[in-house]
Amino acid sequence: MELKNIKNSWINQFPKPLIIAGPCSAESEEQMLKTAELIAENTDKVQIFRAGIWKPRTKPNGFEGVGVIGLDWLKLVKEKFGFLTATEVANAHHVEAALKAEVDILWIGARSTVNPFTVQEIAESLNGTDKIVLVKNPVNPDLALWIGALERFLAQGIEKLGVIHRGFSTYQKSQYRNNPHWQLALDFKQQFPNIPMLIDPSHICGNRISLATVSQTAFNLDYDGMMIETHCNPDKAWSDAQQQITPQKLAELIAHLKIRNTTVLGFDEEMERHRTLISDLDFQLIELLSQRMKISEKIGQLKHDNNIMIFQPERWKLIQEYVLGKATETGMTPQFVEKIFKAIHEESIAIQNLMMKD
Ligand code: PEP
Ligand code: MN
Repeated sequence: MELKNIKNSWINQFPKPLIIAGPCSAESEEQMLKTAELIAENTDKVQIFRAGIWKPRTKPNGFEGVGVIGLDWLKLVKEKFGFLTATEVANAHHVEAALKAEVDILWIGARSTVNPFTVQEIAESLNGTDKIVLVKNPVNPDLALWIGALERFLAQGIEKLGVIHRGFSTYQKSQYRNNPHWQLALDFKQQFPNIPMLIDPSHICGNRISLATVSQTAFNLDYDGMMIETHCNPDKAWSDAQQQITPQKLAELIAHLKIRNTTVLGFDEEMERHRTLISDLDFQLIELLSQRMKISEKIGQLKHDNNIMIFQPERWKLIQEYVLGKATETGMTPQFVEKIFKAIHEESIAIQNLMMKD
């Protein structure tokens, strides 16, 4: 069996869009039940309740999850409110405990997807079950690694597969906690239209402000659903506090989403797809230009401190030769590229001039 051939009818048992919501981490029985109660009270669109039981944290000595006791709380949430449940598993022990506690859906975190040994261990421990497994994109923008992880599950007979787009980490600071790189996710969708894709706006944004925009973008691109973090008291959350919202706010966000029903992309959808990609590239252009100008400023400082001329004709000649060569290579006219780089160079000189003035 190949990934391209699996039939993902599991998603059809759910209304579209499939919405998974719940706190980043299970913290206490009270927090879990309260969050579930508030979700149930405010919206009927959430089908699955999520909570992290074991938390992969960037730094040691932080809260690393409540452990197996949290699985009992997930069970309570299911009994009291009827949600299916989902949690992250990162090794064979987690799988064993989650299976024993009858968690319905398991997901593989971004930090696990990057590691083939980890994925292999999890996949083997799931052999013989018919769990729904959702694989988050790896932290780095590597499409093959993401696909490879899915292949490891398929090789163990796990066919109810889906993916979660949670963005990709970058060294540069940006408006996102994890850059969405929409193109990469769309490439995945194009190769595997049969594998449901969910958006995780929480980990892409890292804040509350752009959750709605990122979610809407995904639905414009025909995603099948989303996984989003919500907490009864977000400001006091033990992990990812900045990006969690109350169930009331979540209900509002969901109510405002425009969900398109077509699976065939029509004109509007196609336009929307292109525009999203353009916006994504514009965002990257601006980020890069801003970084370039910051470096210019440093150069300006160095020239100032050493009393060196700002304009270095040989350097500018080299840059021009390089970009004009690149223009032809990449199918753009030299005139266009020259215009842009003249503008960049001019701005650079203006910035360095300012530095010269102490
Ligand atoms: C999470 O869902 O809480 C989580 C840890 O996500 P990710 O693996 O995307 O960082
Ligand atoms: Mn989280």
